[in-house]
Amino acid sequence: MFLMILPVIMPLWQTKDTYQRQREQMVANQIAARGISHRATLQAMRIIPRHLFVPPQMARYAYDDSPLPIGYDQTISQPFIVAWMTELVNPDSKKKALEIGTGSGYQAAVLAETAGRVYSIEIVPELARSSATLLEKLGYTNVEVREGDGYLGWEEHAPFDIIVVTAACDHIPQPLLDQLAENGRLVMPLGDPGSIQELILITKRNGKTTRQTISAVRFVPLIRK
Ligand code: SAH
Repeated sequence: MFLMILPVIMPLWQTKDTYQRQREQMVANQIAARGISHRATLQAMRIIPRHLFVPPQMARYAYDDSPLPIGYDQTISQPFIVAWMTELVNPDSKKKALEIGTGSGYQAAVLAETAGRVYSIEIVPELARSSATLLEKLGYTNVEVREGDGYLGWEEHAPFDIIVVTAACDHIPQPLLDQLAENGRLVMPLGDPGSIQELILITKRNGKTTRQTISAVRFVPLIRK
């Protein structure tokens, strides 16, 4: 009996260890090695099972240094970009975050681990549903996902200390600037959705916003209906 059960159990243990090892390597080689030092972000990415946020056939590539397709013409961002955007908005447990473009739900999970409360909006109904289900299954009680147009923000829960936009737009949506809290930080890919954009960081102080350009990036477009 014991011998019959063993072969079934062994691969499960091995799989778990393999993903854990891949996560450690991802954080060490792709993220910490490139200068990300925000401790809670690194820790979040060591524990979140990223392979569950991609389609099953992509699971083996989940910890690679690249974005991956998640269906509906959308992508899960490269791990380093997720880490960088998270570090830029400097999350802590007292802060409230808004994400535009839930997609797979991975960035929302990283924010759920690093910030206090997370609101995330996704325009593709199927993705809104699947990411909400997965986040719930993983036990995240501080994240709320809703289907809708993130361009308009989420007035009911504003203002936000953190706003992370994960789709490209050629201007900064005014509703998001309005919903950014005093001392808040907004990060987004700004520029032509069809080509390379600039990752920008907006900070608000005394009601005035300041813009900083961080890097060249490429994101999928922010869709307007
Ligand atoms: N943050 C995601 C990355 C998703 S890619 C992740 O961690 O996996 C960008 C996402 O933005 C896509 O899922 C796309 O459907 C969504 N999106 C595009 N335009 C949007 C809009 N106007 N409002 C909300 N979501 C939008």
